[in-house]
Amino acid sequence: MMAKKAFKSESKRLLELMINSIYTHKEIFLRELISNASDATDKLYYRTLSDENLSFSKDDFYIRIDADKEKRTLTITDTGIGMTKEELEENLGTIAKSGSLKFKTENEKIEDVDIIGQFGVGFYSAFMVADRVTVTSRALDADSAYCWEAEDTEGYTVTPAEKDAVGTEIVLYLKENTEDENYDEFLDEYRLRAIVKKYSDYIHYPILMEVTKYRPKEDNKEETEEYKEVETLNSMIPIWKKAKSELDEATYNSFYKDKFFDFEDPLATIHTSAEGLTSYTALLYIPAHAPYDFYTKDFEKGLQLYANGVMIMEKCGELLPECFRFVKGLVDSADLSLNISREILQHDRQLKSIASHLQKKIKAELTSMLKNDREKYEKFYQNFSRQIKFGVYDNFGRDKDLLSDLLMYYSSDEKKMVTLSEYVSRMKEDQKYIYYACGESIEKIEKLPQTELVADKGCEILYFTDEVDEFAIQMLAEFEGKTFKSVSAGDLDIETEDEKKENEKKKEENKDLFLFMTDALSEKVKEVRASSRLKSHPVCLTSDGALSLEMEKVLNAMPNDQKVKAERILEINVNHPIFEKLTALLSGDKDKLKQYAGVLYDCALLIEGLPIEDPVAYTNAICELMK
Ligand code: ADP
Repeated sequence: MMAKKAFKSESKRLLELMINSIYTHKEIFLRELISNASDATDKLYYRTLSDENLSFSKDDFYIRIDADKEKRTLTITDTGIGMTKEELEENLGTIAKSGSLKFKTENEKIEDVDIIGQFGVGFYSAFMVADRVTVTSRALDADSAYCWEAEDTEGYTVTPAEKDAVGTEIVLYLKENTEDENYDEFLDEYRLRAIVKKYSDYIHYPILMEVTKYRPKEDNKEETEEYKEVETLNSMIPIWKKAKSELDEATYNSFYKDKFFDFEDPLATIHTSAEGLTSYTALLYIPAHAPYDFYTKDFEKGLQLYANGVMIMEKCGELLPECFRFVKGLVDSADLSLNISREILQHDRQLKSIASHLQKKIKAELTSMLKNDREKYEKFYQNFSRQIKFGVYDNFGRDKDLLSDLLMYYSSDEKKMVTLSEYVSRMKEDQKYIYYACGESIEKIEKLPQTELVADKGCEILYFTDEVDEFAIQMLAEFEGKTFKSVSAGDLDIETEDEKKENEKKKEENKDLFLFMTDALSEKVKEVRASSRLKSHPVCLTSDGALSLEMEKVLNAMPNDQKVKAERILEINVNHPIFEKLTALLSGDKDKLKQYAGVLYDCALLIEGLPIEDPVAYTNAICELMK
């Protein structure tokens, strides 16, 4: 007996999960094994395309299922590329998707259903129904075959084995039936056929099984006799090649979940064909949630690319515009060559034309969702708004016109998400700008002193809570002829002529005070001013010029040596009691006024969520004043 090798710890955990699984859809083990078999066959098939020494024809490829009721075994045989001794150890002793599993367990939400549905656990799912599994495989180019075997989580063995044909044979020794579970069902022809139909119908290699049939007896036509015949269980027609009328939502959705490893139904399905210079069929899905790595550089966009039913690329990025990189799906075209290479693809005019068609289709789908199913759109937006906004900004605004009517922001008036076009339609007659306020959260923006005047004038304010928001809007520049203005902009341009005059007057009257304070804070602000926007709050910070305080925050948080600085304005509410005190100090105690100026500036920074330079000095000053 060979010594057992231990499973890698994560594999062991997954294996334990499978062995003790109470998952109700145990049947998916067959889907997983068939998919693996199909992938392995694809690999061999590609090799035959480029290797003249290999003389396989497409007819040599099949997947076979054998059920043995007496031995209670289920065998899945494929004619794929096989595995070497090393590959058996490497592939079946560790799990490829360990990253995903880790992600899940760290969140302590590891649930049977979740993990199986979400990641497609692959080979190990066999242990949901079997307590012993052997994998006998002969790799292409290998001199001999090997057998991998495991029957518990302790470990596995790999030993030399007999197998003439290239490929893999997996034998599942089914678990004993229990009160709750009947594993014999996986030996039943009808059940097996139904499972294959349900999950693996579009697999493009025949899935063969010997089935029982009946015919009239030769010698006595009154009686029937049993006979066996090998049958192809799957139709092999990929669902995208079927007519739309033959397909229902459930079929589209289960294909999606199976193929793109999602546990949730997609929000929308786009099934479209085009004839012309490049004929193609595309089946696209808008997922209901962003993959956990969507906003990281690990995420790779792309659609599967098929040349007449045969997959030639797993992720073809050229087919998907960057702004819609969340879309999953595939494109099948009869006009593409089978061994098209990545270098050729980048310049391929056919692909470019498909991509631009798809871009229009995706946009149309989202627009119609926004119009007809707002709730669904908002779910989409919650997951992918950052991508859309980034799309507006990216490439110097190249796609901004495509994307601007997909934008939504939280509205101060409506207390919900609104589109720009809804905002513009509600604008008051004399309202010049689309107003927005930036902050970390809706709650924080709600409390911002800077919003007071704009809100007081009855103007709706859009809340920008994403870092990219203000950058995107600057790139957009205008929407339906209206430009944007931050409530923190130095010049709000919202006051009436009378109000403007009144402000000028106050400025003039208190010229000395503001000059003194500006001087006292000269290192920190460009100017101290009488505020026209504050109603009840004492102070706030605003900025002159194109660079806002929010943008300053974002830019300076980036790993970059050159720090930027917005032109800061400290605004003081001349109707606030503190202002009287300041005026009194100008003639009474200039030193104190200087100290007050510093404290007020720090207060404004705090409101803005910006760090104060010297928290100790600030605290001391406050205590001094409280004494
Ligand atoms: P996944 O298929 O998601 O990568 P699995 O645990 O199902 O994860 O399989 C691990 C690896 O084992 C596969 O990536 C493949 O390389 C190999 N493998 C599994 N089944 C077969 C098979 N029937 N023929 C050849 N290789 C296989």
